Amino acid sequence: MISKRILTVLAAAAIVATVPGALYLVNRSGDDPSEGVSTYAQVTPTAAREQFSRGITVTKANKTFDAVRLFWKPVSCNGYRIYVYDTSSRSWDKIATVKSSSADQYRISGLDPATEYKFKVFAYQSSDEKDSPSDKGRTFSVSTKPTAPKLLSLSADNKSATIKWSKVEGATGYRIYRYDFKTGKYISIVSIKNNRTFTWTDKTVSSGVAYKYKVKSYVKVDGVNNWSNYSNMLCTAVKPDKITITGANRTYDAVRLFWEPVTCNGYQIYMYDSGSKKWKHLTTVKNPSANQYRISGLKRGTEYKFKIRAYKCDAQRKNHFGSFGSTFTVTTKPEIVTKNGITYVEGILIANKTYSLPSNYNPGMNSEAMQAFEKMQKAARRDGISLWICSGFRSYSYQKSLYNRYVARDGQAAADRFSARAGHSEHQTGLAMDINNASSSFEGTAAAKWLAANCADYGFIIRYPKGKESITGYKYEPWHIRYLGVKTAQAVEKSGLCLEEYLKITSEYQ
Ligand SMILES: [Zn+2]
Repeated sequence: MISKRILTVLAAAAIVATVPGALYLVNRSGDDPSEGVSTYAQVTPTAAREQFSRGITVTKANKTFDAVRLFWKPVSCNGYRIYVYDTSSRSWDKIATVKSSSADQYRISGLDPATEYKFKVFAYQSSDEKDSPSDKGRTFSVSTKPTAPKLLSLSADNKSATIKWSKVEGATGYRIYRYDFKTGKYISIVSIKNNRTFTWTDKTVSSGVAYKYKVKSYVKVDGVNNWSNYSNMLCTAVKPDKITITGANRTYDAVRLFWEPVTCNGYQIYMYDSGSKKWKHLTTVKNPSANQYRISGLKRGTEYKFKIRAYKCDAQRKNHFGSFGSTFTVTTKPEIVTKNGITYVEGILIANKTYSLPSNYNPGMNSEAMQAFEKMQKAARRDGISLWICSGFRSYSYQKSLYNRYVARDGQAAADRFSARAGHSEHQTGLAMDINNASSSFEGTAAAKWLAANCADYGFIIRYPKGKESITGYKYEPWHIRYLGVKTAQAVEKSGLCLEEYLKITSEYQ
């Protein structure tokens, strides 16, 4: 055996050989090995080769724009060492030691996007084993993904949606994806094959529909596209179509608006407030198929203005509004309805100094009013009161002669305070009657008191109450009652108003 001194140590120690060959360990400084060797170890060339780690095969890699996760099949060993090739120094750099034999993956982060990296993985038995990445192991190449673009804005009108994204340096192009609510997947809708275009308008959209978009960038290397992850998501809704009010039904106090439904989530109804001179949001109809809405509690014979717009909610619950159609003006039914020359206010036949009856209107005494009187008459009798009709229905011609007699006797101004001109008498309606004694002597009698206290319960009112002459046009007539039906008579009595006040009408000769 040929001995060669390669190392001198000053104290007893153990040195482990790391290169092939033989090591002599001497026990004293300056000693010649031939003079006295106390301990030695020999490293054989075969044993030395086993001290190198084994390069193993990376089976696959997951990647993002700044990280790679390498996968391999675990082997019998005590751990793994990971190397990456540094292209600038042209050397393999150890970046990690995985001290687990069962490890089968390792993630390398902090990488540059869209860049090719080379890796090697070694399995070691002893941590003292040497790796030799430059000439051993198998190289695994993988490129990181490009940086994902950022979606900057998404805007929509009623015909299109426009998307804008950030430029990705080095990208070959971009692809736009739109969410398909049916399949729950993002579908590629367009490919932008340059790095100069960062906006795109989707004209394949429908009004009143919600959309979600994402974008990817890609880098083409050797004919293969390297795709980024998805960008952030932006959502919007294309504005619903304009709503035009097509018509309205109306009553005295309500209006029902009609329109054509559109694709949307619902409708907002606005009414113009003539007091504040502002449009006021009345209600939201949360039903896309609604085509009408009724607004009640309105004033009679009053003009109202309405407008409607549809809305669509996007994926983030933000509403997108369509346009208002033109303003729709509608007037509630007038207070006064005239049929065949006869005036009705809220269905109540009116004859007073403002509203007259045709000369040929000759209905006779109203049978319903007569039945109500007879019922009242019986009730009064039970209370010891006698009631009788001293004047009921009067024809136009009879009233004419009656009035003319009063004018001749008292003059027109005086006559007009207690007698109606022809056509203006309530007696011509067949709904009015004078009780017992049509003169001031009736006032204060037991019958007058009973009548005032009870007539509403039988559908009558004292038509010309005390203190209301300026409104009714007639002096107080405690004997003159008018049939309205129980419900209306009680409502008028309860209001404390005379009929003209109750119906908001006048009684004045034109
Ligand atoms: Zn009368």
